[in-house]
Order: sequence, then C-alpha cells, then structure tokens
Amino acid sequence: MAYFDHAAATPVRLEVLEAVAPLLTTAYANPSAGHGQGREARAILDDAREEIAHLLGALPGELIFTSGGTESDNWAVAGTLERGRREGRGRAVVSSIEHKAVLEAAERATGRSGELSLVEPNEYGEVTAEAVAQHLGDDVALVSIMTANNEIGVMNDLVDIARAVRRNAAHAVIHSDAVQSAPWCDLQEVTRAVDLLTVSSHKLGGLKGTGVLIVKEAVRLDPLVVGGAQELGRRAGTQDCLGAMAMAVALRCAVRDRDLDVARVSGLRDGFLSGLVALGAVVTASGVRVLPGHAHVSFPGLLTDELLVGFDRAGLAASAGASCASGATELSHVVTALKREEAVGKGIVRFSLGRTTTQTDVADALEIIRRVLDLLGGVRSTSATGLLD
Ligand code: PLP
Repeated sequence: MAYFDHAAATPVRLEVLEAVAPLLTTAYANPSAGHGQGREARAILDDAREEIAHLLGALPGELIFTSGGTESDNWAVAGTLERGRREGRGRAVVSSIEHKAVLEAAERATGRSGELSLVEPNEYGEVTAEAVAQHLGDDVALVSIMTANNEIGVMNDLVDIARAVRRNAAHAVIHSDAVQSAPWCDLQEVTRAVDLLTVSSHKLGGLKGTGVLIVKEAVRLDPLVVGGAQELGRRAGTQDCLGAMAMAVALRCAVRDRDLDVARVSGLRDGFLSGLVALGAVVTASGVRVLPGHAHVSFPGLLTDELLVGFDRAGLAASAGASCASGATELSHVVTALKREEAVGKGIVRFSLGRTTTQTDVADALEIIRRVLDLLGGVRSTSATGLLD
C-alpha cells in the first residue's frame, strides 16, 4: 500500500513507541492522585508539558492538554466568543477555509446574530492580512485564521495577520489552528504573535486523541470541558500522561529532523507533482507557499470518488481533502472558496506525503495513478502546463 494521506494521520514514530510502550503497564496511576504512583504519572505529564511548551515557544503554564485538534479549536472559538459576548463584543472573524472544527464552532457560537465575518482566500487559497483587515473593528472578539490549510496545504503569514489585528481590532483574541504546519514549521514566531494556538499529536507521529491549546497568560478563556480541576482548572478530565509524553517525543523528533525532512519531502513532492502533471493533472495551488507534503490536484473530467476508489483498489491511499469529509461527494468548502470550481472542482484529490515517504513510494504511486487513469479513460482536458495561472 502506498500511503499518501499523511495530512490525515501519520505513522507513529519509532521513538514514540520505544518511549511509551514500556510505561503502558506501569504508569497507569491517576496524575491527580496524592500517592507515589500518582506523583510519577504527574511527573511524566509535567515533563511533557514543559518540553512541548518549550518547543512551541510558550510557557508550561500556557499549555493545556486536550483530546486533539478538534477540541482545541472548539474551545478556542467557543470559549473566546462566550467571554466576548459577556463583555459586549460578539463578532468572530474567521476564514472561510478553516477546518470545520473552527467554522462550525464559530457558526454555533455566533448563532443567528449574524456576527460571523468570513474572510475569503485569494484564488490560490491564501488568506492575506489585507483580506483579514477588511473585517476588523472594535466589536471583534475573535480572529481565527489557520497557519496552513489542511486540504490544499497553503500557508498563511500569521505574523502579518496578527499585526493587522492588533492595529485594527484591539480587543480581539487571535487564534490559529497550526495542526497541519506543526510537523514542518518552526511555530515559535507564530506562538509569540497569537493568543491561542492549536496543535494535534497524530499529525506529528504521536498518538491520536492528544492535542494542546496554548492559551497565553493574559487570555481568559471560559472552559469547554468541565467537571474537575485538572489543567489548572481550565480543562476537566483525567489527563492522558502517556499521550502527552508521546506528543513531546514526536514533537522533539520533528524539530530535530525538520530541516532535512522539509528538504527531502518537498523534493519528493515536487517530483511527484511533475509526474502528475505529465499524466494530465492540474495543480491547485501555485505561486503561494505550500506545506512540503501537500500535492492537491484535479484530474479534469473525472470524479473524485471514482478516482479514490480506483486508487484504493490498486493500493494507493489518498483522500478528497479533510479526512472527516472523505466519502462525501459534494465539493469541499475549501475548493468552493477558491472560486475555480469549473477548472478544478471535479476530480479533486489530496495526496499528502510525509516523513516516511520514499522515492519508491512516489514511483509506485505514479504508476498506480497512470493505470487507474487509463482504466477511467484518462483526463478530459488540461492546459499545456497543467497549471491554472
Ligand atoms: N485542524 C486541522 C487543520 C486538521 O487538519 C485537523 C485534522 O485533520 C484538525 C483540526 C482536527 O484535529 P484532530 O484530528 O486532532 O481532532
């Protein structure tokens, strides 16, 4: 099986397995317990918190463990808007291509009051500071713009965006979903620029079900999960100490290997994209910064579902975009927002390469894609370059 779905989930790092496995049967005590075993569990949690905070450029007290990116996003949005409303500011400014964990939370929290302002990306999927600035004002409680998009992989300049927000919406809390960029980018500058930051472990080679929300010291956020005093009273529930440890190890390895991984994977991805274009695919994002592993393309004249089923049968794992939406035949909200459906709306596939992808995987994948396209009758039309610009 050629695995080209690293944006949905990554293989667990060997270092994570080696660190966590021996503790599975011993470090089971509740980290809130007052006895020795509880203290040992607590130490694992505290060490993980300290290391992750350090690597992301935050203070340990600013890092709250959650059940993953979805919860962190939900909490950042709902918690900020709830408090904002009490203080007389209820408007949220959110890009229209955010992950649904942000979009739906913002829609729910702003309800029918119409206090949700959607920032549209440019035609290649970038959300610019200028576009955000058009929606700012004193009534804004929350600005949430992702560091990189999960479907198309396009990266946004959060430092620039945060500067615009500080200038034009003095009371707004700035959140960024950095789930996709965390495996590839140094986030310290982004952490410094924003108030809230979401990261998820399983995109990094850690385990599913662990994430963090960085909550800057000055920010007051209403809890989302209540019923216990864990995480300094900000997020209830017995902490998953080994999940936290796995995330710390995964992030440490990602930071250690980052430069080499970025160079190697983006090289493989560029070669893969050239191969796809030679087969008639159209590259969605060009002229903008894209994460190293993302290859988001369209096969004109074909349907996403028939392509994905064909690839799957032939041993190639890819997806339509957001993994939670795969299987759905309708156009994703991200592709729709690009306003280029006519050209790239049909036959959309997100291939995502990762740390474990090899040159052989790329060659195998291209051969599978060639065979499946042949079976489906090939793409119907494309420009000379395969690019849309
Ligand atoms: N945000 C983005 C950008 C994502 O890509 C994902 C997962 O696909 C999430 C949030 C949700 O993260 P989790 O799977 O940890 O809930």
